[in-house]
Amino acid sequence: VELPIHDAVLGRAAEFGELPALIDGTDGTTLTYEQLDRFHRRIAAALAEAGVRKGDVLALHSPNTIAFPLAFYAATRAGASVTTVHPQATAEEFAKQLRDSAARWIITVSPLLQTARRAAELSGGVEEILVCDSAPGHRSLIDMLASAAPEPQVVIDPVQDIAALPYSSGTTGIPKGVMLTHRQIATNLAQIRPLIGTGPGERILAVLPFFHIYGMTALMNAPLRQGATVVVLPRFDLDSFLAAIQDHRITGLYVAPPIVLALAKHPVVAQYDLSSLKYIISAAAPLDAKLAVACAERLGLPPIGQGYGMTELSPCTHVVPLDARDAPPGTVGKLVPGTEMRVLSLDDPDKDLGVGEAGEIAFRGPQVMKGYLGRPEATDAMIDRDGWLHTGDVGYVDADGWLFVVDRVKELIKYKGFQVAPAELEALLLTHPRIADAAVIGVYNDDHNEVPHAFVVRRAGADDLSEGEVMMYVAERVAPYKRVRNVTFIDGVPRAASGKILRRQLRERI
Ligand code: ATP
Ligand code: MG
Repeated sequence: VELPIHDAVLGRAAEFGELPALIDGTDGTTLTYEQLDRFHRRIAAALAEAGVRKGDVLALHSPNTIAFPLAFYAATRAGASVTTVHPQATAEEFAKQLRDSAARWIITVSPLLQTARRAAELSGGVEEILVCDSAPGHRSLIDMLASAAPEPQVVIDPVQDIAALPYSSGTTGIPKGVMLTHRQIATNLAQIRPLIGTGPGERILAVLPFFHIYGMTALMNAPLRQGATVVVLPRFDLDSFLAAIQDHRITGLYVAPPIVLALAKHPVVAQYDLSSLKYIISAAAPLDAKLAVACAERLGLPPIGQGYGMTELSPCTHVVPLDARDAPPGTVGKLVPGTEMRVLSLDDPDKDLGVGEAGEIAFRGPQVMKGYLGRPEATDAMIDRDGWLHTGDVGYVDADGWLFVVDRVKELIKYKGFQVAPAELEALLLTHPRIADAAVIGVYNDDHNEVPHAFVVRRAGADDLSEGEVMMYVAERVAPYKRVRNVTFIDGVPRAASGKILRRQLRERI
């Protein structure tokens, strides 16, 4: 798709006109498609007048609000590349991202202004801090709506120019700036279009963050491109999430596994009318097939579909089409059009594996990132000379082409030559009636063997659940080499905003 991202997404805004594009889930403020289109053009004009130039990097630092997409598309229309910032980043973390990306502009919200100011001070190089809402001494997007400045005539090259510069989650290392061109993002939207169901009349709940590539795609770009209504919540809290589904008659959810877990297990779910829901899609981290079935059955929904992707893939290569009747449990989907895939042996990376054999999955296609910003060695380590991106994920494909993701290569526990996937043990632990949540990492025991160590969150009222009981439960259900050898009870599993378990933090505890 050879269009700048704002045109690729908002190209049909005039046609959708008075339909609601965005609704603030807390106070009901609504932006129609006509307003989204007109407002983002006004703000783009005002940004250009304020000095934003083609190629500038603009840091968007905000929780989910209805202004987030306005700021995003206004910035790209003015020619900027948007680097999205975790709203809970500390000033130091934010400053690192500002320095790394050489950002010249910040758009933030008044409650986060102190952090943004401190980050700008620490990094230097920031021209101006703007706010979405209002704050004394700062230009605001609201004021910019009144701008009479002419629309900027920026010529964007969709093939070369960077639209978004999200930072990868930092699950396995330091977060890296991922350069995604207009064409990469717009093409990926077209690739997933036939497979997902957002369109006029659909109401999508945006509770996963827009700043992460999953939310940016599934909750912002894709539904707004297709005329759906996006109901926006600033953060996840189970009660307001369920209330929003009920009150806004939400039809579709794009979530991560921890939310599926809550929907499947939490008693409070029964107190809400969730009958408007038609489907749930989960992505970003391993989802256990049994858990998915339990959730769908409890809510009376069709099977929960999955998607697979990563920031470096703009982000998607696999989805389970909404109308698939034959998707096997646990699959993350089928390959999207225009993309090639290989499964490579873990022992001999030049060897392609066949049906049912698990190895590292690699992709080539128009959605493969341009590279990591300023890190050519890291880029070369991931994308080989022939353009194949090596994901670091282990998976296999069945005879019908459905992909199953086992785990990350780096997180596989190697016990005496056998491989144990933490995701499998975590899923098993979650089936225990007295376990609320769990995470598993590999640790070296006294014999220098890597063995599974479980971190377990007890359910309310299960304070007497013992380590022995947990280990026994697993031992009765898995081959001996997969047994959990140590258990630590914790209050909560540390997770990234995208729902991924932060195993590094767990490792630091032992
Ligand atoms: P970093 O690369 O900085 O360590 P990250 O890999 O967690 O962080 P993301 O780009 O947010 O950053 O996540 C992509 C990863 O998420 C994939 O490589 C894969 O491990 C995991 N993932 C995504 N979708 C699924 C899925 N449906 N099932 C299992 N894992 C998934
Ligand atoms: Mg990664």
